[in-house]
Amino acid sequence: MEELRNLHPNAYEYVIDAGPQKWSRVRCPDRRNMVQRWFHDRHRAAQSMRHQLTDAAHLMILKRVEKCNFMIVNPVDWNIFSVKRAGKQWTFDLARKTCTCNKFQMDILPCSHALAAARDRNMDFTSLYTDYYK
Ligand SMILES: [Zn+2]
Repeated sequence: MEELRNLHPNAYEYVIDAGPQKWSRVRCPDRRNMVQRWFHDRHRAAQSMRHQLTDAAHLMILKRVEKCNFMIVNPVDWNIFSVKRAGKQWTFDLARKTCTCNKFQMDILPCSHALAAARDRNMDFTSLYTDYYK
């Protein structure tokens, strides 16, 4: 502000008369209230979560768990699984968290083949979840 006063005294007076709520983002009441409301709403939504994942991600997992019940899993090695269903076959890599269906890579959520492999290995499904949906 001192630099502005030295360079342009009239501009300095104008800015001071207008008040910081006109030119400061921090002091703009509408913007500050909007940001506070945004954080408050998200905090409240996070506190009311009933599952480890968001509701949308939880629903996707439930549907995929239903599908994985009808799959046949054949371990290829400790991390690679061949998963079959209705004449189709996919390969899930547990170490890389990739599947040949590409859903795991695209959604960043375990696909039904990954869930079938996890179930075959008695793993907790939550170990396949990424923090993105938590
Ligand atoms: Zn898959």
